[in-house]
Amino acid sequence: MVEIEIDPWGVADVKDYTRLFTDFGISPFKQLLDGIEKPHLYMRRGIIVGHRGYEEVLRAMNERSKFAVMSGFMPSGRIHLGGKMVMDEIIWHQRMGGDAFACIADMESHSVRGTSWKKCKEIGLNEYILSLVALGFDVEKGHIYFQSENKKLSDLAFELGKEVNFSEISAIYGFPGDVNISHMISVVMQNADILQPQLLEYGGPKPAVIPVGVDQDPHIRLTRDIASRMRMFRVEKRLDKDQKPYISIREKKAGRKALDEIASRIGGTKKMYAMHIDVFGIEASEIDRNMREIEEIVRAVEMEYGGYGFFFPAATYHRFMQGLTGGKMSSSVPESYITLTEPPEETARKVKQAKTGGRATAEEQRKIGGSPAQCTVYELMMSHLIEEDAYVKEFFEDCKNGKRKCKTCKSEAAELMFSFINNHQEERERAKEVLKEHEVYKHFLDV
Ligand code: SF4
Repeated sequence: MVEIEIDPWGVADVKDYTRLFTDFGISPFKQLLDGIEKPHLYMRRGIIVGHRGYEEVLRAMNERSKFAVMSGFMPSGRIHLGGKMVMDEIIWHQRMGGDAFACIADMESHSVRGTSWKKCKEIGLNEYILSLVALGFDVEKGHIYFQSENKKLSDLAFELGKEVNFSEISAIYGFPGDVNISHMISVVMQNADILQPQLLEYGGPKPAVIPVGVDQDPHIRLTRDIASRMRMFRVEKRLDKDQKPYISIREKKAGRKALDEIASRIGGTKKMYAMHIDVFGIEASEIDRNMREIEEIVRAVEMEYGGYGFFFPAATYHRFMQGLTGGKMSSSVPESYITLTEPPEETARKVKQAKTGGRATAEEQRKIGGSPAQCTVYELMMSHLIEEDAYVKEFFEDCKNGKRKCKTCKSEAAELMFSFINNHQEERERAKEVLKEHEVYKHFLDV
């Protein structure tokens, strides 16, 4: 039986990713690949499996217009390879021109895990921020922050909180009656984290992508809903009785004057109603372009009337890595995962003991080949240790054809892991110097 759990605070367990598309309305990412100039290896290799609304971000990226990327890290444990995936995705989007935001979700950790503020600060810096900068996050261009230090974020969360109530949050997250109120507040803080890049202070509304694991989808869906409720207008494509497309603009909370203002800025054939305007005479082939132009006009008027004009945040979803011991990664089983901050020798040792997709005997392996899809060593190689696609392909084929031996494979992977972690830890030392040089960030080092 297939199983799927999408719980942001539980243990991630997805056994059948196709159900994300059928049951949760997530779109397959591979359909977008051809439109991406230089896709990240997570994109090319199907590690980013799905997305919601990424088309808008991609268009902005390709047109060199503004967009943002943001994601958060809960400082309650050590930074492992799963966290590195999110960091890599933030950094890739930053290099592609996105305004990048990285949040240390200390309020969430304090309310959900009971982590002390001091510990949140220590873990936030020593595990997450140093690795993020060491992996290549540009602190000159991007923004790293602790939730608890960000007044603008709290103000935004307070505003967003007006659009969602106790029953709704309880239904989405399955909160029992004894869940603490701070945990609930941490939900709206996360909604605010996701929408913050679109505030005027950061250049105003823009497409924004949130790279996450699929377990975070409830936050994304809720934030998209809230972004929609915060909008003063709704713009929709519709079909008339002859199946010809038209665009409808419905006023929700800006008032009639604002609607008239929009009408005055839009050309074409319009029909005015008490609460909405319909725009006709648009060729089917032109509908998407017209829609975008009208959305921009509506957004501009909304901003003039004090609204936020939010784009609905997009998301990319990556697959979870298997635990090295087989099954899920678990924080109580350190052998099941690799952290970026443990001794490099330890990481190499873990790789050598990892579960493979090899056969019982060398003879059997030669005859019927290994099973790379079940092999955690192959997963490490293709996700983190091999840059060249051609080599990944060769590695995969050689395993399947019985040309590879698990022992040789493990030694190769262990060596690469050692050198990656070793280099990364040297980069982390340099990251401290980078933070020291920046007024905004140097206080992070006071832990
Ligand atoms: S040969 Fe390599 S890739 Fe294949 S199952 Fe063994 S360790 Fe995994």
